[in-house]
Amino acid sequence: MQYRPYTLKNYQKISKLKSLPETASFDMNVVGRVLPFKTNNYVVDELIDWDNYDKDPLFAINFPQKRLLEPEHFELVSGLLESGADTGTIDRTVDEIRQGLNPHPAGQLDFNVPVLAGNKVSGIQHKYKETMLVFPAQGQTCHAYCTFCFRWPQFTGMSGHKIALKQSDIFIEYLKHHPEITDVLFTGGDPMTMSAGRLEVYINALLESGPSNLRTIRIGTKSLSYWPYRYLTDNDSEKILELFRKITDSGLHLSIMAHINHYREMSTDAFREAVKRIQQTGAVIRSQSPVLKNVNDSSDIWEKMWIDQVNLGIIPYYMFIPRDTGSHIFFSIPLIKAYDIFRKAFSRVSGLARTVRGPSMSALPGKIKIDGIPDINGKKYIAMSLIQGRSPDWVKKPFFAEYDENACWINELKPAFGETSFFFERDEFKSVD
Ligand SMILES: *Cc1c(COP(=O)(O)O)cnc(C)c1O
Ligand code: SF4
Repeated sequence: MQYRPYTLKNYQKISKLKSLPETASFDMNVVGRVLPFKTNNYVVDELIDWDNYDKDPLFAINFPQKRLLEPEHFELVSGLLESGADTGTIDRTVDEIRQGLNPHPAGQLDFNVPVLAGNKVSGIQHKYKETMLVFPAQGQTCHAYCTFCFRWPQFTGMSGHKIALKQSDIFIEYLKHHPEITDVLFTGGDPMTMSAGRLEVYINALLESGPSNLRTIRIGTKSLSYWPYRYLTDNDSEKILELFRKITDSGLHLSIMAHINHYREMSTDAFREAVKRIQQTGAVIRSQSPVLKNVNDSSDIWEKMWIDQVNLGIIPYYMFIPRDTGSHIFFSIPLIKAYDIFRKAFSRVSGLARTVRGPSMSALPGKIKIDGIPDINGKKYIAMSLIQGRSPDWVKKPFFAEYDENACWINELKPAFGETSFFFERDEFKSVD
């Protein structure tokens, strides 16, 4: 299968091919100016149900639609396009809108850039003790872009919003200075958009010069959902699988962190065949996804997704709460609703699917999990704990917020019992970094 992208340059082809109404096409052009827009022939031809596209979860996560933007932002851009404004004016307006969409939530740029010999090393993040994130420069794109993506500034070319690593020797150097690191996680974008040859440079560096305490290589990827042919028919598919085998043969654990938002993504023959081939290399596939309004905000969907995953030998790993960025108005759901969806789905699946953790917010102090809605002396609260913390000492310590049925993120919650801050916001928090 030949990969063919669709972007703002040729999206009209899809409109014609699938007989979309004129308005849908216009909306794509307007919203696609602000949020990243790219999809491909696999998503268009094999995943989306075009008879019901306006309710289709895959359409919702791939295609720019009017509902993704605040009405006034939509009007602003559509007005400029209709009046034939010049590109400079459109670009300035679009940039202003983007700046207002919280392009780097949770201190991504300022807090997580590590320092080596006094210099900031861009292209890696080291937030939690055991795990280092690597953003290979050539992997900062995806086979299709998600409309909810919190990495969206990377794809829109917003200046100053790119994190990317160009040389593999810097991260090896960093690893050697940090023996506490056992896991290296390649992320992006999508590292699986790199050629086998490019990926091999990073992998070889780890296998040949990596420190002996390295246990696991993880690769975060959406390729199984957006381009399973990466493991089937691409020119270097076999080379990719050989590289995976080389990792597991070396004694390291290889974990493919598959980004799967809906069970429909797992329904094609190509997906299932790709999963099988990856598993034959000795790699383990784990799954993660945010819980998104208009896409997967029901416990039935998660229940089926986790059951199907276990069936295919995929280990359910994380349910995330979407970050407060980009098209938050379209996707975000209240924390208590996310918790309810998680609890109901979790209570209905086999123990083998209860490896999943969440719902979790990746916030500044760490991964904050909603643990429950306890009723204490006739009053409801929100109980939380950290799965991962900027300081390891913060992990698994229960803490409480006032009940709030509308809050969608930690910064909208108030500490319970009359306290003025959460424990991680006190003195020791400020001394970190
Ligand atoms: C989630 C995450 C990790 C990995 O955490 P695990 O609990 O080991 O899966 C590492 N670094 C960052 C910045 C993360 O957000
Ligand atoms: S695949 Fe991941 S990184 Fe790429 S657009 Fe989607 S959410 Fe963002």
